[in-house]
Amino acid sequence: RVEIRHVSKHFDTFHALGNVSLTIEPGEVTAIIGPSGAGKSTLLRTINHLERADEGYVAIDGELIGYERRGNLLYELKDRAIRQRRASVGMVFQNFNLFPHLTVVENIIEAPMAVQGLGRLEAVSLALDLLARVGLSDKAGAYPRHLSGGQQQRVAIARALALKPKVLLFDEPTSALDPELVGEVLDVIKELATSGTTLVIVTHEIGFAREVADKVVFMEGGKVVEVGPPARLFTEATHARTREFLAKVL
Ligand code: ATP
Ligand code: MG
Repeated sequence: RVEIRHVSKHFDTFHALGNVSLTIEPGEVTAIIGPSGAGKSTLLRTINHLERADEGYVAIDGELIGYERRGNLLYELKDRAIRQRRASVGMVFQNFNLFPHLTVVENIIEAPMAVQGLGRLEAVSLALDLLARVGLSDKAGAYPRHLSGGQQQRVAIARALALKPKVLLFDEPTSALDPELVGEVLDVIKELATSGTTLVIVTHEIGFAREVADKVVFMEGGKVVEVGPPARLFTEATHARTREFLAKVL
């Protein structure tokens, strides 16, 4: 389970996150929606310790991300230790972020070999299994620039899965794609959702959120305004701000 507790984050004087708490249960699919600037990406980056919270903490199965506790104090971990703990959190970005100079299979085996000490043969075998899962068995030796956006994003998903994360975070995974490529990526995410992977998805695809999410989180102004199951939140949101936002996007 992912526990986000009282997380705040400033950029200079700007409050990007204000006292955000949220619990994500194993196997649960959480969709985060909200207007631009709401703090959605900042929250995901904080879960991953790509962004360091000013206050509060994130723990996964009781293990703090980015810190260790000594007595009552928290100490930030060293880079290597952070990378090892971060392996429990997979992240898929809007712009795929594949290594352009590495082939598809090399993109996928890099972290399991570097972070988890997997041997090359084992890592390649894992990568091929994952490529089959995202429907790209024939692209193992290709370079990212020779793939469509949808294919690149599916490689990015395979790469994130390679570390066997406890939770997989998606930041607007389809918003950089041509419309005809959105479906193939959503289908892969849907397959992960139904097979019990714990997912957190920041998305503007409200229809998709409604279909796959167990829980929808509406954020605005750095705060969680409302959390609820899609069936309720999309039809009878409690907060006026949620209703106003949904009226614009539905
Ligand atoms: P969008 O839907 O546009 O992606 P978002 O909800 O993901 O928006 P964030 O990217 O989390 O919003 O940004 C929240 C606020 O924090 C924004 O006003 C943004 O300008 C600010 N912000 C984010 N990162 C930084 C940074 N590194 N330095 C300064 N300000 C930042
Ligand atoms: Mg964002």
